Amino acid sequence: MGDLTRVKCPTCGRVGAWFDGPSGPFCSRRCKLVDLGQWFGEEHRLSEPLRPEHFAAGDDTREGPPD
Ligand SMILES: [Zn+2]
Repeated sequence: MGDLTRVKCPTCGRVGAWFDGPSGPFCSRRCKLVDLGQWFGEEHRLSEPLRPEHFAAGDDTREGPPD
């Protein structure tokens, strides 16, 4: 306690103790999904455009793309 490491969110640049959070090192689940969506979009740009449900996932336990 009291010794949290402050990091910069890779997506939005906000600084805070994100690394200790559920979505670390991102400041929020949304920023994490945005970042994943960026590389996922690179990989699947031609076959699967980014869809709103990628940002609306309400389950924190889902780490990877649904398959
Ligand atoms: Zn962020």
